[in-house]
Amino acid sequence: MNDYSFTVPGELVYVQDPCDCDRIEPLNGCGCSRGFAGVASARATTTAKVVDLPELSIESYTVALRAGLVAQGWPGEWAPGMAELMLDMAAHSPIGTIIERSFDDYRARATIPSETTKRPPGS
Ligand SMILES: [Zn+2]
Repeated sequence: MNDYSFTVPGELVYVQDPCDCDRIEPLNGCGCSRGFAGVASARATTTAKVVDLPELSIESYTVALRAGLVAQGWPGEWAPGMAELMLDMAAHSPIGTIIERSFDDYRARATIPSETTKRPPGS
């Protein structure tokens, strides 16, 4: 597994269409067909974790995503659709699931229990 991660740990991510180099040479391209893009850093990572952030609404995620897209030179109006795609992807996986991607194919690699899925001691 040749993972890469250049995002900031804990950073919100989204998915972008792969560039032509990966479409033509998926095994020897730049690797963006396997990547999730960091909203703030504009860097990429091959894994994303499903988390439950009660303080983050779809509206605030969309606002952050819009700002990130515009800062990275993409149309801000992509934000609502991309936010819905990410929410839909996360909604189909338990919290703590590590998701990987290959082009438009997303799948769970593993589920790592997080604080929000742990039972309190003694329960
Ligand atoms: Zn690429």
